[in-house]
Amino acid sequence: DTALVWFRRDLRSSDHAALFHALKAARKVWCVFVFDTAILDPLPRADRRVEFIRDSLQGLDEALRRWQAHGGLIVRHGLAVDELPQLADRLRVQAVYANHDDEPDALARDARVRGALADLGVSLHTSKDHVVFERQEVLTGSGSPYSVFTPYKNAWLKKVEPFYVSAYPIEKFADSLAPLPEGVEAGVPSLPQIGFEPTNLHEMKLGVGETGAQAMLADFLPRMDRYDTTRDFPAVKGPSYLSTHLRFGTVSIRQLAREAASRMHHGSRGAAVWLSELIWRDFYHQVLHHHPHVVGASFKPEYDAIKWEHGKHADALFAAWCEGRTGYPLVDAAMAQINQTGYMHNRLRMVVASFLVKDLGIDWRWGERYFAEKLIDYDLAANNGGWQWAASTGCDAQPYFRIFNPVSQSEKFDSEGKFIRRYLPQLAKLSDKAIHAPWLARPIELAEASVRLGDNYPEPIVMHDEARAKTLERYAVVKAKS
Ligand code: FAD
Repeated sequence: DTALVWFRRDLRSSDHAALFHALKAARKVWCVFVFDTAILDPLPRADRRVEFIRDSLQGLDEALRRWQAHGGLIVRHGLAVDELPQLADRLRVQAVYANHDDEPDALARDARVRGALADLGVSLHTSKDHVVFERQEVLTGSGSPYSVFTPYKNAWLKKVEPFYVSAYPIEKFADSLAPLPEGVEAGVPSLPQIGFEPTNLHEMKLGVGETGAQAMLADFLPRMDRYDTTRDFPAVKGPSYLSTHLRFGTVSIRQLAREAASRMHHGSRGAAVWLSELIWRDFYHQVLHHHPHVVGASFKPEYDAIKWEHGKHADALFAAWCEGRTGYPLVDAAMAQINQTGYMHNRLRMVVASFLVKDLGIDWRWGERYFAEKLIDYDLAANNGGWQWAASTGCDAQPYFRIFNPVSQSEKFDSEGKFIRRYLPQLAKLSDKAIHAPWLARPIELAEASVRLGDNYPEPIVMHDEARAKTLERYAVVKAKS
């Protein structure tokens, strides 16, 4: 009874399902992470996520060594399908334990690894860890998956009990962590050793690893009660900024759900709204599990009939959006935020997604891909869900005729232009009124603020009212079909 725990998107040593099951089942347990070249090779050489993972692994290695001084994390660099069987063979383990990853590519990889391990007589055991409820756990009365959020959330809340959110007590079984046999080394390679360069990750106040996540949680807990009133304003420190830690499992979803639920039961409105966001996360994960066609296609197939802009014109509009040159300050400031930091506030994700699809007429998949490249917290299920929500093509999406006005969104959610000024210093001297739509300002005001439209800040690339009318026409094919 020996086992290997394979870490993937669960880079922590506490409250970890696979680690717990392995420690409980086996007398000798080792731990491994594979820098999978199938994932890494296509990435740009400077990628904040790779750095986040690498630095978080260091904390994991240290935590494992605290329990077993001659142990630690084994780190391999290669294809998972080669590395896992090799190591399992070398260590002569009977079983490999890992946590579920329901992304289609991960499922395909796991099936290959499972097959290769089976050839050696080694079994692969996987468990739920990344979400509170997964797969078939929350279904409608008739046994089908939910496609509308509110009833899903109600069923989720009805089902959740302390059992589902209690922590796996790793400490109790940690003495099953075994010393490494001779010739097998633990320790985390440097970024250059895996072919990557450093980024500006450490300027992000994000923290890495479990200790980074716990520090961010401690910072958020006193703010959680106000989350409902602060979360929509990008210049305010309203949200938790825990998304990257959730993505890579440097924090346990069970710990977060527990914190939120207990505050909610004490009457905190902020905690109830925050818990709802965690439930959205589960919701989109189960959407992806039940409807993998959402990768690349609309959840609602009739929306695939929409004709998006194409050709050189579309390419130019898309480039302006990516580079924050649309002439709409809130959109451009938001794109500067994602480009400079790898993060974007949730309200702004909705605004820029709507702008790309419904003001510029660009296919939502282009925006989805751009976010997938840039976001440190990029998560296929949540990103796809967010884009299809904004494009109205998704499961429980906003109706297609609801089109955000980028100027009124700006006036409402960044009324004093604080966020805009932070990212677009060339507009800093405009008044709180003019900053949302500089092209409407009087020439004298622009001159006094040293704003030269078409020179140090662009003219708007589309007029919202015209774009809106065009979008309603574009989406009319859907109405005709449904
Ligand atoms: P908080 O407001 O503190 O929320 C707590 C946690 O709840 C988040 O960390 C996240 O895990 C989860 N959450 C919150 N909102 C959502 C949501 N709408 N859907 C699913 N989970 C949610 N989130 C990602 O984690 N990765 C993505 O790639 C991603 N892409 C998005 C793309 C678009 C177009 C949109 C509209 C939203 C996207 N979101 C994504 C959801 C949301 O914007 C981020 O989770 C949130 O902004 C992260 O900041 P936070 O941790 O401070 O969130």
